[in-house]
Amino acid sequence: MDQQPEIKALLQIPKDVVIFTHRNPDGDAIGSSLAMYHYLNTLGHTVKVICPSEYPEFLSWLPGVDDIIIYDMEEERAQQVIERAELFFCLDFNSLDRIDKAGEHFLRQKNVTSILIDHHLHPEGFADFLISEPSASSTCEMIYEFIVALAGKSAITNVIGDSLFTGILTDTGSFKYSTSPKLFRIVADLVELGVDDYRLQDLIFNSFHEKHLRLLGHCLYNRMEILEKYHTGIIYLTKEDYNEFDIQRGDTEGIVNYLLKIKNIKVAAFIMEQPTIVKISLRSKGDFSVQEIAKRHFRGGGHKNASGGASFQSLATTIKKFKEIIPRYFKAEAKL
Ligand code: 5GP
Ligand code: MN
Repeated sequence: MDQQPEIKALLQIPKDVVIFTHRNPDGDAIGSSLAMYHYLNTLGHTVKVICPSEYPEFLSWLPGVDDIIIYDMEEERAQQVIERAELFFCLDFNSLDRIDKAGEHFLRQKNVTSILIDHHLHPEGFADFLISEPSASSTCEMIYEFIVALAGKSAITNVIGDSLFTGILTDTGSFKYSTSPKLFRIVADLVELGVDDYRLQDLIFNSFHEKHLRLLGHCLYNRMEILEKYHTGIIYLTKEDYNEFDIQRGDTEGIVNYLLKIKNIKVAAFIMEQPTIVKISLRSKGDFSVQEIAKRHFRGGGHKNASGGASFQSLATTIKKFKEIIPRYFKAEAKL
C-alpha cells in the first residue's frame, strides 16, 4: 500500500470526515463504517457515517450505530454534513449509484479528498485513493489491515474489534466462504485482542422474531422452485407476502443461502417484489459467476459468488427472464 504515507499525512490533522456506505447496508457495510468511525474518533476527527437507507435490526446493538445518518430520513442534515466535509471515505461499495442521491453530493464536492476501501469487483474510479482488494473476504478484513498498517494492533479497541468481527462473520457466512489463511490470522488477532466471538455470534444470529421463522418456513414451503436441470434454485416473495409477514429491511437476509444447502444446487436466486422495484439476490458455488448475470441483466453487480441487482418489470416477468437467462450461462459454464 504505497498510498499509505499520503493517507497517514491526511489523517494527521483533525478534520470533518464523512464515511459513506451502501444502500441496504449489511454487516460488512455497517461494521467497516463503524470501525473506521471509532478509529478516526480516537484520532480527534469529527466523523459522520452516511448511509442511504436503514440498517437491519440485527445490527442495532453495535456501538455508534445510533449516530449513523440515514440519508432517506434526514436528507437536509446529510447534505449539510457532506458540504462541511474535508475528507470522504467510501466503504464497501464500488460504484456511486450504490449510495443513491448522496453520490450526487459527493461529486459536487470536487475539492474533498476521497478514499475508497472495498472488496467488490471492478471499482469505478471516483475516489482519489483506491484501495481495492476483490480477494478480501470483506471490507472489514481490509479495514483491519488499514488500521494496523497505520497505527499497529494496539489501535484496535474493543468497539473496533467488535465492529470488524461483525463484518467478517456476516460477509463470510460464518467463515464458510472467501476465507484464507490471512483472514483466519486476522480473526485470531481479533480474538486475542478481546473480541468475544461467542457473544457476537449470539447477538448477530439469535435475534430473530417469531415472524422471521414463519417467513423462512413460507419461503421454503410455498415459494421455492428448483430447476434441477440447471442446478438452480429460486425463491420469490410477492407484494402480498411483504404485507402478510410485515417484512422490513433486513428480514429477508440469509434466506437465499438455504437454496445452496440442496445437493447439486450451484446457483440461487431470491427475487423480491418490493414497492418500486423487483430486487434480485444471487448466490453461486464454485466457478459459476453470478456477478456477470447481475451486471448484464439486472443493473447490478457484486462478487463472483454473491451479487445483486434489480428489475423494473413485474415479478412474473422477472422470474421468467431469470429462467430464460440461466440456461445460456449454464451452457457457457463447463465445470457445473
Ligand atoms: P445481497 O444479495 O445480499 O443484497 O447482495 C450481495 C452482493 O451483491 C453484495 O456484495 C452487494 O454489494 C451486491 N449487490 C446487491 N445489490 C446490488 C445492486 O443493486 N447493485 C450492485 N452493483 N451490487 C449489488
Ligand atoms: Mn462486503
